[in-house]
Amino acid sequence: MKLPRELSEWLSRRRRFREEWDFHREMAIAEFEALGLSRTEATRLAERRLGSYFAHRRSALRQLRAQITDLLDVLPWCRIRSSALLVPAIVLLTLAAIVLPNPHRLEVLANTASLLPFLPNRHVDRFVPLTPSNLVPMAFPDVMLWGLTLIGLARVAATPKFRRQWRIWAFTAATLVPLVVLSAALWTTALPLLMKDRWHSDALQGLALVTFCFAYSGWAFLVFKVWYRDLLSRCPICLRRLGMAELRGNSADLLIAPLERETICLYGHGVNLESHWSQTFEVDRSTKWPA
Ligand SMILES: [Zn+2]
Repeated sequence: MKLPRELSEWLSRRRRFREEWDFHREMAIAEFEALGLSRTEATRLAERRLGSYFAHRRSALRQLRAQITDLLDVLPWCRIRSSALLVPAIVLLTLAAIVLPNPHRLEVLANTASLLPFLPNRHVDRFVPLTPSNLVPMAFPDVMLWGLTLIGLARVAATPKFRRQWRIWAFTAATLVPLVVLSAALWTTALPLLMKDRWHSDALQGLALVTFCFAYSGWAFLVFKVWYRDLLSRCPICLRRLGMAELRGNSADLLIAPLERETICLYGHGVNLESHWSQTFEVDRSTKWPA
């Protein structure tokens, strides 16, 4: 385990100040005692010479990177942040946080499930107020989410470095499906709040619905964009985030020295090169690293 070792290093860095402080204090006291002063007198003069314990401690801990805030670096953030499980875990936790506290969670799930193409269509009789009240019109998220999913799959298929990488496809499925379910659950949770009852002002309600549709589209586009960028930033072999980015070239040059960003898999699977023109991943075949 990495954590206990790093934690004990952090604790020993904190202890180091105390040890050094005690050493210098004793040396100063001994120096004054050698001049013939009593122990009490020597201690008082030594403490005056050394200055404030707390001020020294604060600056020493800052330099030794042993402050309480440095404890955050001790936690295995980097490994968690680069882990392939982080994205599906965040999406599933958000989904659970939206669906589970909702008293109409079964209706939310039934409406979400109606995105599946082979299920019979359920017709909403009236939009405002929503009739029947447990049905949410799903045509808008249906078109949007299926469209974005197909675009996402096409982009993965068209990315050369992902070819013949079954793990990337497994990761795509493990992240896209929960994302689509989460997006649909958001729609079926939020829309009834706007359509359940007729408001005093039809114009205001109409405006709220149009704004919601625009905000939802923007959110869905953003989520899919972030999803694809996250996919590009992963090693196709171990699915962990690539690191140690190095920038080369010039953003103004497109042909002679285009801007290139080189990252490597920190677990030794290869080198990733992104530029304006291409995305390549050179697998390191010289070493047999565990996936
Ligand atoms: Zn890797």
